[in-house]
Amino acid sequence: MRKPIIAGNWKMHKTATASEAFARDLCDNITGAAVDVVICPNFTALLPVGIAIKETPIKLGAQNMHWEEQGAFTGEISPAMLQDSGCDYVIVGHSERRQYFAETDEAVNKKVKAALAHNLTPIVCVGEMLAQREAGQTQTIVGAQVRGGLAGLSAEAVASLVIAYEPVWAIGTGRTASAVDAQEVCRFIRDTVAALVGQGSADCVRIQYGGSVKADNIDELMAQPDIDGALVGGASLDTKTFARIVNFQ
Ligand code: PEP
Repeated sequence: MRKPIIAGNWKMHKTATASEAFARDLCDNITGAAVDVVICPNFTALLPVGIAIKETPIKLGAQNMHWEEQGAFTGEISPAMLQDSGCDYVIVGHSERRQYFAETDEAVNKKVKAALAHNLTPIVCVGEMLAQREAGQTQTIVGAQVRGGLAGLSAEAVASLVIAYEPVWAIGTGRTASAVDAQEVCRFIRDTVAALVGQGSADCVRIQYGGSVKADNIDELMAQPDIDGALVGGASLDTKTFARIVNFQ
């Protein structure tokens, strides 16, 4: 049985002060969740949010990182720095990183390996653009991203990480993939993992759906056999909505 995992990606929202207050409010509203819950604030908010959620089941994640240990990489942050800030998870290869910061599958692969080497669980994002979906290229694009991002990993390593299927056309647009469409691609991702490292890992790896997840579509998405959770952007910025998503039926 795969334990569901719901992660909130706060993106570039909220100051450190506002993030800490928001995290405390979340802790009051998310108690005894039967799923893994992760919140991913910006870098400056990691330490205060980590302190706010310390005695709770909510885990801390970062939104990005560099693969190098340290060095002359102005503006970057290392896996050890994230670990030292209390992170257990890190989002890797989010479509906004791929689109606006030219992140490639090769870079994603280096980040995934570096994260695992520092006991950080990577949430590896994959997903096609609208034109690619309309051209019938969803499986080609997503398959290449999965194979590229996970290249060279052991079956055990793959089993331990999280993959987020996020169709780019559904992120922040209010347009959600139908539960059936999301299931179909998540199933395809699991089959791709099976071909890459074996069915045992494919059965263990957790696959999230992301893209305009809301209180009113989470239940149907989570009812799909190959959807093990959600990566939530906009709706994770509202306490009641995020709590409702975490407590899906
Ligand atoms: C995301 O940022 O990963 C995301 C899915 O955003 P939203 O839920 O706002 O579409």
